[in-house]
Amino acid sequence: MRTTRIIISLIASLAFAFFSYGQESKSIAGQINLRNFKPVSVFKLDEHHPEQAKYRCVDIHSHPFIQDAEGIRAWVETLEKNNVGKVIILTYACGEEFDRLYDLYTGISDKFELWCGLDMRNFGQSDFAQKAVAELERCYKKGAKGVGELGDKGLGEAYCLRSVTGKLTPTAHINDSRFDALLEKCAELGMPVSIHIGDPIWMYEPIDEHNDGLMNAADWNIDTSAPGILDLYETANTLEDACVKHPQTMFIACHLLNLIHDYGYLSGVLDRHSNLYLDNSARYAETSATPRATKAFYEKYSDRIFFGTDNDPNDEMYDLQWRILETQDEHFYGEYAYHWPMNGLGLSDRTLRKVYRDNYKKILRYQNRKK
Ligand SMILES: [Zn+2]
Repeated sequence: MRTTRIIISLIASLAFAFFSYGQESKSIAGQINLRNFKPVSVFKLDEHHPEQAKYRCVDIHSHPFIQDAEGIRAWVETLEKNNVGKVIILTYACGEEFDRLYDLYTGISDKFELWCGLDMRNFGQSDFAQKAVAELERCYKKGAKGVGELGDKGLGEAYCLRSVTGKLTPTAHINDSRFDALLEKCAELGMPVSIHIGDPIWMYEPIDEHNDGLMNAADWNIDTSAPGILDLYETANTLEDACVKHPQTMFIACHLLNLIHDYGYLSGVLDRHSNLYLDNSARYAETSATPRATKAFYEKYSDRIFFGTDNDPNDEMYDLQWRILETQDEHFYGEYAYHWPMNGLGLSDRTLRKVYRDNYKKILRYQNRKK
């Protein structure tokens, strides 16, 4: 009888322990703040961290992140260590600000090439195009080798004016006739145009439990209710229009045109416009979520993609570029991983050579073509 009582109480306490354990884990899952979700990979896999780019490369998308001479010299050392031979600094700027940045960077190293912005200060006035073209020519004579980064998140180009006013005040889309003279002048001077269109697709979706990019979209999203705003595809259409209107102008859509969730559509865009190229900057975590589809796209369009970073130029950032593009490491996390694990693309040597280095010759040829 006593033994039976002991067994019953033992079973009861085990059942209780089991039950309460289940309850406890459920309640913890309900309490974890998504922002604090920082998983650590459990997989025991080989890791590869290439110390530098496999082929000497050109970064075609960076910004004046560092503006003191000592810091820029340290950046040059980091570049050398990482096998980066040249960096294009997209200044957004014109006027005195462009001149200041040009003198600062080129005075320290010939590794830097500076691109100017468009002079949007007189936008809306009748002499806008005339003044903006004159300023473009002045920047070109100063040493600007291209234009960028323009940026349209659905309401019109807003990046260049921001460099003057500090505000993202939209102007007009790139296919607007008020840009015609400027884009034709870019072609005449051999200045490629770097342009940011839209944002990743989850920034347009409701911020709810179904949003695949929630952790990022919660902080960084598009107000799709803004009057007159275009969606991602409509904004991309304005760039396609500009490519048709200005067949001699070389356009480079930043961040793989933010269409990395839809490679079929992106392929169509590239097939339709031979004067359109992509840079792969700042979309590493996004593209590494689908390593096989992304690799297939890179391999097929290896002639149309330039390497770019668009992030603070520190060792960790460069390390991540090489690891994602060159290795086949799986399921790893890092600063730019958002909430999903990253995977290496393992691009072929042929594609790496083109993206890192050889495609840049197309920019050089364009800049140096007969004028
Ligand atoms: Zn940028």
